[in-house]
Amino acid sequence: MATLPRAGAAPAFLGGRPGRLLIGGRWTAAASGRTFPSVNPSTGEVIAELAEGGAADADRAVRAARAALEGPWGRMTPRERQSLLWALADAVEEHYDELHLLEVLDMGLPVGRPRSGRTPPWEAEVLRYFAGWATKIHGETIPNSVPGPVLSYTLREPVGVVAAIVPWNRPVNNAVWKIAPALATGCTLVLKPAEEAGLAALRIGELATGIGLPDGVLNIVTGSGGAGAALAAHDGVDKVAFTGSTEVGQEIVRASAGNLKRLSLELGGKSPDIVFADADLSRAIPGAAMGVFMFSGQVCCAGTRIYVERPVYDEFVEGVCAFADGLKVGDGLDPETRIGPLVSAEHLARVTAYLDLAAQEGARTAAGGGRVEDGDLARGFFVAPTVLTDVRDDMRVVREEIFGPVACVLPFDSPEEVAARANDTPFGLAGGVWTRDVGKAHRLAGALRAGTVWVNSMLLMDPAVPFGGYRMSGYGREMGERSLDEYLNVKAVWVDTR
Ligand code: NAP
Ligand code: MG
Repeated sequence: MATLPRAGAAPAFLGGRPGRLLIGGRWTAAASGRTFPSVNPSTGEVIAELAEGGAADADRAVRAARAALEGPWGRMTPRERQSLLWALADAVEEHYDELHLLEVLDMGLPVGRPRSGRTPPWEAEVLRYFAGWATKIHGETIPNSVPGPVLSYTLREPVGVVAAIVPWNRPVNNAVWKIAPALATGCTLVLKPAEEAGLAALRIGELATGIGLPDGVLNIVTGSGGAGAALAAHDGVDKVAFTGSTEVGQEIVRASAGNLKRLSLELGGKSPDIVFADADLSRAIPGAAMGVFMFSGQVCCAGTRIYVERPVYDEFVEGVCAFADGLKVGDGLDPETRIGPLVSAEHLARVTAYLDLAAQEGARTAAGGGRVEDGDLARGFFVAPTVLTDVRDDMRVVREEIFGPVACVLPFDSPEEVAARANDTPFGLAGGVWTRDVGKAHRLAGALRAGTVWVNSMLLMDPAVPFGGYRMSGYGREMGERSLDEYLNVKAVWVDTR
């Protein structure tokens, strides 16, 4: 682990002045000259001032991205792009502890969070997976039935300038998930990190300039409100790759109408996690619990509606409450911490309002249930891992995304009933099934209307496996071969060879 910065000190990168935008390869102040504070949610302290990017900055960044596309980047060979992506992966791996520390300070991710046994780190793996694709993107020669010797083939071309607008919940991951496919396909991009946690994206921008990525290929515009909307509406943007809330996703759909830009949307969820009586509860209990409490529930695909078959309901609730009570809530910098803070005071207010609502709706709090304010934790935005029982499918706490460490546990009696209840949601991001019955597992996997189903596991990810939503969880896919199409146009070429 890198040396820990002094609490409240500006992180030591970009010469200690992170309050700048990366536009056309230059670090520059916002046009307005204004900045906004970034806060460590474990302590409430301001750790840095970031540049308040606005419409003028978004415009400059889009122009820089266009110039790079039409200039050196557009002329690069696939192999050159591959080498650059690989070099960026190496840089991310080399500086991983520092990047992770920025996430810990900026949004409170626990520093000791398991890396799922992954070496090298996940984000470097994602970059290398897409580096591999850079040299393997090609069209097809397609036989046609037009009279005469007429050849037809397709070209797959970069969609152009991409605005990547991302949330705060996993800053390094969120940046890399957009940068990797954009560069592999030959696009250029303007990355807009969330106002709550922009530091890691800026450091990745610094690493990208360090490996010789041409100016303007990756531009970074921080901001708190205006920059994202300006990008979504900008006529010079060919595509928006968005991850965030369903409400903002809908605003982006409306804003995209001006030039009919391409969209991919990874939005919210309220995913079901179904535990059958024949499941191995020694795995299902911690698995379902961490499927909600991981990153304090600030995970879009969290399995927050846990349906448990009635014969094991009481045993499951007892087990999951004991597990929740045993999770150490603390400062992200403490290696013992399993549950860090929520990202901001506003988000804390939103999550605790849902806990009040749960009580009003008649839910019983079986574990946790409120803010944690012991000692120094009172400065930060901590909520105890919470288990709600006596909940019904029609309660708002069961229907709406809370994005906090709150599990609703509901009993069920049959596979058909639970499938129908699991699907009775406007969302469709993910779902889980715990059972030892192989047939039941596959039937449920087929029945759930969601982009991902985990069986006897939760939250598994791989760069080769597509991830994305059904219905109001958005459209488009990230990761995997299919995600490339989100960044490519297909051109048909006809050649009359007579
Ligand atoms: P958010 O409020 O939707 O913000 C996401 C990003 O959109 C931020 O960068 C934000 O910028 C920007 N933005 C805000 N208003 C905009 C507008 N009108 N036009 C364009 N961009 C705009 O989401 P969040 O609170 O950061 O993140 C939590 C949400 O993200 C949850 O609902 C969660 O489910 C979802 N999420 C989904 C996934 C997934 O893969 N499906 C992954 C993670 C999170 P500012 O910060 O400057 O406002
Ligand atoms: Mg922050």
